[in-house]
Amino acid sequence: MSLTIIHNASLRTLNTFGIDAHAKRLIQVLDPAQLSQALEQARQDPALLVIGGGSNLLLTADFPGTVLHVCTKGRRIVADDGEQVIVEAQAGESWDAFVRWTLDQGLGGLENLALIPGSVGASPVQNIGAYGVELCERFESLRAIELASGREQQFSAEQCGFGYRDSVFKHAQAGRWLIASVRLRLERHPTLRLNYAELRDELLACGCGHPTPRDVADTVSAIRRRKLPDPAVLGNAGSFFKNPVVDSEVADQIAEREPGLVRWPDGSRSKLSAAWMIDRCGFKGRREGDAGVHAAHALVLVNHGKASGAQMLALARRIQAAVKTRFGVELEPEPLVV
Ligand SMILES: Cc1cc2nc3c(=O)[nH]c(=O)nc-3n(C[C@H](O)[C@H](O)[C@H](O)COP(=O)(O)OP(=O)(O)OC[C@H]3O[C@@H](n4cnc5c(N)ncnc54)[C@H](O)[C@@H]3O)c2cc1C
Repeated sequence: MSLTIIHNASLRTLNTFGIDAHAKRLIQVLDPAQLSQALEQARQDPALLVIGGGSNLLLTADFPGTVLHVCTKGRRIVADDGEQVIVEAQAGESWDAFVRWTLDQGLGGLENLALIPGSVGASPVQNIGAYGVELCERFESLRAIELASGREQQFSAEQCGFGYRDSVFKHAQAGRWLIASVRLRLERHPTLRLNYAELRDELLACGCGHPTPRDVADTVSAIRRRKLPDPAVLGNAGSFFKNPVVDSEVADQIAEREPGLVRWPDGSRSKLSAAWMIDRCGFKGRREGDAGVHAAHALVLVNHGKASGAQMLALARRIQAAVKTRFGVELEPEPLVV
């Protein structure tokens, strides 16, 4: 199998915002054995960007170097003691297809993370999370290749420095590694995580008093399909901003000025609802040309058609400025802004 190399390639179908940016060169890798060769080629360019499903990416201009699109496939059970099972997937596997495969193997642990768009390789980058579960809770290790040298390294959970929608791959180690494969620790008899009221209520409404992991995955998928815009219909990258975490004292001060502030206290810190603040600043449902904020989800920026990445970014900056002025809080984007 040879590498697919395309010059002056449109990236429109490779990012879920549907931004029509071009890359000087696009290399698609299907075979894990060709990753090193692809990196050697890519290294000839000074700029290199690794992408998977493009569902957490905002391209604000053409990319002046090589985009490496990781499409490597493969998944397997690595170890099984009858209770705990280690599974491994190559980076280019679709995350949701991988979750479904683990359910087919009779394994639980990933059901709450069903239907998150994107690839397995990107899942540790922002420690994907949904419905009360984060990837780091199931994480065993990953294998990465250093872009500059081709050297391979294994990362433990500790080395990944996972946090809320965060890891070292977004900060100290950003743009340094290609994640080639990921290992997770799953269970044959999992304790289901049903602390999310919406999930619990919907399971009960469906008559699922004693749900299986597959019931949970199906219900999570149904809720997500109902609530979130489908990028195939309306370009978006899911939540555009992280919920800011501040000292609880600061949260109390804001709540005094802004009754109804939605927040989740956690010890001395409090997570604030970015969606609530954006809504209060009047942005929910706003449209500036083809760049907009979803009418039902203030956290989701949408491309109504032909918005450029620069227009999407300008809207994001206006939202950040308005929230900063009114609440004194910085909103941090969740996707990689290129
Ligand atoms: C409708 C919608 C809903 C979403 N819901 C959620 C949600 O509930 N929870 C959540 O956490 N996220 C959510 N997201 C965001 C997104 O799905 C995740 O961040 C996902 O992990 C991104 O995967 P990707 O392959 O598309 O990454 P990309 O967008 O291709 O890349 C994202 C980042 O990862 C890097 N990267 C990608 N592949 C590799 C690799 N192999 N090695 C090294 N770096 C790599 C890129 O350089 C970039 O920095 C949602 C997105 C959408 C569009």
